[in-house]
Amino acid sequence: MNKPLVYITRKIPNEIVEPFRELFEFRMWEEAEEPVPRDRLIKEMEQADALLCLLTETIDRELLESAVNLKIVANMAVGYDNIDVNTARDKGITVTNTPDVLTNTTADLTFALLMAAARKIVEGVNFIKKDKWEHWSPFLLAGSDIHHKTIGIVGMGRIGKAVAKRAKGFDMEVLYHNRSRNLEAEQELQAIYTDFDKLLERSDFIVSLVPLTNETKHMFDRTSFQKMKSRAIFINVSRGQVVDETALYHALESNEIAAAGLDVFEKEPIRADHPLLELDNVVCLPHIGSASIETRVRMLELCLENILLLFNGEEPKTPV
Ligand code: NAP
Repeated sequence: MNKPLVYITRKIPNEIVEPFRELFEFRMWEEAEEPVPRDRLIKEMEQADALLCLLTETIDRELLESAVNLKIVANMAVGYDNIDVNTARDKGITVTNTPDVLTNTTADLTFALLMAAARKIVEGVNFIKKDKWEHWSPFLLAGSDIHHKTIGIVGMGRIGKAVAKRAKGFDMEVLYHNRSRNLEAEQELQAIYTDFDKLLERSDFIVSLVPLTNETKHMFDRTSFQKMKSRAIFINVSRGQVVDETALYHALESNEIAAAGLDVFEKEPIRADHPLLELDNVVCLPHIGSASIETRVRMLELCLENILLLFNGEEPKTPV
């Protein structure tokens, strides 16, 4: 009997697929850095039994309908806003994601971004590189304290809770907002449930960790930034489209808020002439929340484990 064919949309290290070769045939897009062109991906769907894809691929109705044998889409991300999950369900195609394995790594990056924005780390590095350092001065590159401040986490899920844990280590007060209360976070981390507007008004740091959905699209808009303190620092590690970037630019440029740390953007990749990059009070990263070697390997392995379980007739570990 033919082995099921797994199509992987990026070149990944051989060691990761090797343990699965006995059971599956693999085909991979040959580039490590460049996404597979859409027409090529659609063509591959004529034969693939399983698809391991990244958030750079849009798995929409057209693509799913071109798939003849496809049984599973294993997305190498916890967010799955790139996939038309309803059409997949209608076609009997299982969709899986990679929760948990990236939680702590993404929380580390969230906190790094928060600290970099608060303490002007990138500005400081550039200051030296541009040879501007002449004297020590009382308020040279003076930022905001982090310890004993209030952090407001919008989206207190797995990553939100891991960020709250880090915040507790800095003696911060933790506010959070979800559609439903997270009692574990309240009991274990003394997080305080707060409505969205109050959270915006009371927090020194506002951190977005909500998934991108119809409800969360542009939830941080002009009115939201107006409600924040003028010393507030906004951090987004969820998805770019939860923020109205024009409103954010305006809020930063007019000092309506103090600074921002962004790992994600409305349209990725951003180019060097993106307006937000003109501002000194913004730290931008190229969507690297889960990018540690250990975690990226674990995410790929989890995708392959999910595919393996499905073809063994078992429930995948992390269906969406
Ligand atoms: P999660 O455990 O599902 O947490 C998401 C939280 O958001 C939940 O607590 C949920 O609570 C809340 N939420 C959902 N819709 C909401 C709404 N309309 N209003 C308020 N709160 C809402 O997910 P996670 O594993 O922590 O991941 C969170 C997101 O981070 C992912 O979806 C992904 O987009 C992003 N992410 C980014 C990176 C990166 O590289 N930058 C890496 C990993 C993850 P309720 O259901 O009670 O509302």
